[in-house]
Amino acid sequence: MTRDGLADDPDRLRAAREAVVEYAPALAELTPGRTGNLSVRDGDAIAVTPTGVPYDAFDAADVPVVSLSGERLAGWMTPSSEVPMHTGIYRHDRPGAIVHTHSPWATTMATLHRKLPPVHYMIVAVGREVPLADYAPYGTEELAANVVGAMAEAGSDAAILANHGLVVTGPDPETAVENARHVEDLCRLYLRASSVGEPHVLTDEQLATVEERFESYGQRSGVDEA
Ligand code: 13P
Ligand code: ZN
Repeated sequence: MTRDGLADDPDRLRAAREAVVEYAPALAELTPGRTGNLSVRDGDAIAVTPTGVPYDAFDAADVPVVSLSGERLAGWMTPSSEVPMHTGIYRHDRPGAIVHTHSPWATTMATLHRKLPPVHYMIVAVGREVPLADYAPYGTEELAANVVGAMAEAGSDAAILANHGLVVTGPDPETAVENARHVEDLCRLYLRASSVGEPHVLTDEQLATVEERFESYGQRSGVDEA
């Protein structure tokens, strides 16, 4: 038995809980303080950062595990208040990991109620735009529904949350964190450019070409090994 009476299994989602511990400090680079949260999925359960705790103040065995309907399964710490948003996204789209942050440039966009248009080709890492999800109080099912709806409508792996921050998904925590940094950088770029003039936006055709080129971008194992 654990501190709050949960029948814990320290091996439950061990790799996912270790990944939460490994990647949670990256949240601190994106947002000062304790805001934001991170989750990693394994099948129909997720390991998620505990609520209101500094990102380096817990071990894998402390990390809460919840089902995709939000039921607590393991870990003695209270899970993030944004579990409804994380589980809502997983139920809809089954990514491997989710990062939520109040990173300053994306949150500036959030206060302006601006979505991020395709002003740079790197946006295709998450889609052709980053939509704006309507405001709802943090931690609510209403916010979860707004975010899931905005991402689905735009076909994007990210959303700006009005008057709140940013959420980004990925196939794994490393990619989700990397894509959160991309979106934060692109928001900075967009806002800087907007302070001088009206940034030019890439066309659907230009974005389609980038998507095609991205399929073979980077190091491919097995190439030139003969
Ligand atoms: P938690 O500390 O509960 O994860 O909440 C932080 C946050 O960003 C709420 O939107
Ligand atoms: Zn938040």
